[in-house]
Amino acid sequence: MGPRVRGRGRPRYTVLRAILKFMALPDFTPRVGNDPKSVVIHLTTGTGMEIEWKDGHRSVYTFAFLREACPCALCEDERGKSGRKAGEAAKLAPGALPMFKPAVKALAAEAVGKYALKFSWNDRHDLGIYSWFYLREVCPCAECAAARG
Ligand SMILES: [Zn+2]
Ligand SMILES: [Zn+2]
Repeated sequence: MGPRVRGRGRPRYTVLRAILKFMALPDFTPRVGNDPKSVVIHLTTGTGMEIEWKDGHRSVYTFAFLREACPCALCEDERGKSGRKAGEAAKLAPGALPMFKPAVKALAAEAVGKYALKFSWNDRHDLGIYSWFYLREVCPCAECAAARG
């Protein structure tokens, strides 16, 4: 996935993103590429989540990445405004001092039907529904990142 949308004014970018998301969302058809064979969520150690897909691909996500990739409308909107990709941390404004932020942790994770996961984050946010489709789409590995461009 990933037609690269280059900014020529934000509204266009946002609208295009919204359309892409709308097109991507209803497709929950399990396919080898977006159906997990195994999912391991390291809640206790806090290291993140690993998914092995039916096509043999393996995705490893840190919790920080997943929190920054939250697919809820609020987070999507915020990322759109600041021009961040899913999973990308907010950049510090030039000259700004880093504020203390506790490490991102998932307090709980639960299945949403057969097609998605939901996390409760330690910043009290829990609106995002992470579909397998979406998780495969944002896979942070080098190969997928290169394919997205
Ligand atoms: Zn969110
Ligand atoms: Zn990947």
